Amino acid sequence: MTQHPLHLLMVASEAVPYAKTGGLADVAGALPLELAKLGHDVILLLPRYRCLSESGRSFRSVCRLLVPTPQGPVETLIEEDVIPAGSGGGQVRVWAIGHEAFFDRPGLYQEQGLDYPDNLDRFSFFCRAAIEVIAYLKTVCQWNTHLLHLHDWQASLCAVYLKTLARDRQEVQGVRTVLTLHNVGYQGIFPGAQFERTGLPPSLFTPAGLEYYGSVNLLKGGMVFADYVTTVSQTYAREILTPECGFGLEGVLRNRADRFVGILNGIDVDRWNPATDPYLPAHYSADDRAGKQLCKQALQREFQLPEATVPLLAVIARLTPQKGLDLVETIIPQLMALDLQLVVLGAGEPELEAKFTVLQKRYPRRMGLRIGFDEGLAHRIEGGADIFVMPSRYEPCGLSQLYSLRYGAVPVVRKTGGLADTVVPLTGQTRQAGRATGFHVEEDRAEALLSVLRQAVALYQDRSAWDRLVEAGMKTDVSWARSAKEYDRLFVSLVRGGQVP
Ligand code: ADP
Repeated sequence: MTQHPLHLLMVASEAVPYAKTGGLADVAGALPLELAKLGHDVILLLPRYRCLSESGRSFRSVCRLLVPTPQGPVETLIEEDVIPAGSGGGQVRVWAIGHEAFFDRPGLYQEQGLDYPDNLDRFSFFCRAAIEVIAYLKTVCQWNTHLLHLHDWQASLCAVYLKTLARDRQEVQGVRTVLTLHNVGYQGIFPGAQFERTGLPPSLFTPAGLEYYGSVNLLKGGMVFADYVTTVSQTYAREILTPECGFGLEGVLRNRADRFVGILNGIDVDRWNPATDPYLPAHYSADDRAGKQLCKQALQREFQLPEATVPLLAVIARLTPQKGLDLVETIIPQLMALDLQLVVLGAGEPELEAKFTVLQKRYPRRMGLRIGFDEGLAHRIEGGADIFVMPSRYEPCGLSQLYSLRYGAVPVVRKTGGLADTVVPLTGQTRQAGRATGFHVEEDRAEALLSVLRQAVALYQDRSAWDRLVEAGMKTDVSWARSAKEYDRLFVSLVRGGQVP
């Protein structure tokens, strides 16, 4: 339990089980629950997207608030869902910010690969509504927000509004802000001519503020104005201070270096548990893995592959250049010459989708493909796969490899960011010590990936060596327990004005 229970307001643009496009949703769904289990009182703010109604959860009305916008005040309906946190009686309140024209749409940020043209208006509104929620909580509920935990560019403007437009408002005094960077490749960049839509004074559209080579950069605004900045692994925290990985914001971050730290993500070990996972056709654990074989056979059937005992490789990812799946696509002909099967689940760049589709048609007995987003299938693939392939060019933390560890699908990952921090590579030493949990690919090259995959497939034939690798992975602690305590320490010291760790 925490020494100092706080009132925490989390602001995120997606969270399971309500809305998800990637790992941010997993984190924003799990971290509030972990902080609540530690004794904090947590409210999570989300936009009221259309998919919230399809999430199987129900909401009740809380209040209507007026949100200032450049076009005048706009009313938002705040609705609430409550999620129990653990067995200790804790809970998280989820407050959805309503605005039909902005959020009642098929997508979160885009449709058919095209960003919504009014994303700046949508997320400015969301952040200004968050400020009104803080004021409402204080004046009506006597609930003083101690700290605002902001996630990514969509929530960044909260820090800016708090320190500028709302600076003199008595109801929001003393609120601390932490911004967590889940991926600096996505910054919320908009044409400079749109700056006035934020409602901020022109004096903030400078290199010291939100201006970025003539454009508006929301993530930069968050980095400048938040009290503290975190990212999701220690290695990525070092990498984004360099021009290679900082996507142009390395200088801004270096200015905040004394208020910046990496805290590794965990996973929700209840939602992702091979012993109880409702999506799996059979269950298993580190000590009794018989069920994994059944999951593999079911997966082979699902993809119409022969039920062979060859290693089953898997990919689950957004099909973007970041994930390095063009490398996988390049080596498929060589991979297919080995005795193995491959299943791919992903959606994203139409060109890459088309290339995978052509290859699957060429190798229907060895390769399975599903283009689209399918949460249940993602679980079944983790359950059935022997090897999980994740050759990301950069990876802030990565969650899929953590699910793979837990589900006994040995991860083969690029040695970068959180992948380097979470997968212990097989070397003479780690093998002897029984610590190895997967394989690292050193270079961003197709041949390097192929060579490591060949090693992995060869080792698969050595049953006892492979079993040790699987077992060590499954027994790795990938839960939130340790990281939630790190957030707790950071938040408490920021709020209490003590030494920040
Ligand atoms: P990122 O956040 O960059 O997409 P992560 O590895 O951190 O990468 O998280 C990805 C999450 O999204 C995982 O939970 C993974 O299972 C899920 N995911 C990615 N693509 C798909 C898909 N096509 N269908 C279902 N789940 C997916």
